[in-house]
Amino acid sequence: MGRLRRSRAHHARRDVHRAARTRVRGRDLDQIQMLDLDPKRRAELEAQPLDFEKPGLAQHYCVECAKYYETDAALTSHWRSKVHKRRCKQLKEPAYTIEESERAAGLGRAERRPAVAVAAAPMVVEDAAPVVVA
Ligand SMILES: [Zn+2]
Repeated sequence: MGRLRRSRAHHARRDVHRAARTRVRGRDLDQIQMLDLDPKRRAELEAQPLDFEKPGLAQHYCVECAKYYETDAALTSHWRSKVHKRRCKQLKEPAYTIEESERAAGLGRAERRPAVAVAAAPMVVEDAAPVVVA
């Protein structure tokens, strides 16, 4: 037999493995977009009480990246960094919602199929409200 296919085994997918780790699981983009970026919540996050468990006593927090920094200098240099700018760009895109997943599955209002197609190919939908055909 011998050695089979050693080269080209890596595909630079480092961030996939990082994202799968639960040890340092951060907040998801939709959580940040819908909850944390609200001005009131944002002010709360930026003025947190002293927490000895968090880096920098939880005084230097980046809301967009959901990350604590040790010093104010570290936070300001983070705001100028590529990581932060990339994150801001991601947050500008609309979040993935339940409505979008339902639309993808053909359950949404926009994608409702005509009655003929439903009758021709009946779908088995469990735990779903019955489709009302007007
Ligand atoms: Zn950031």
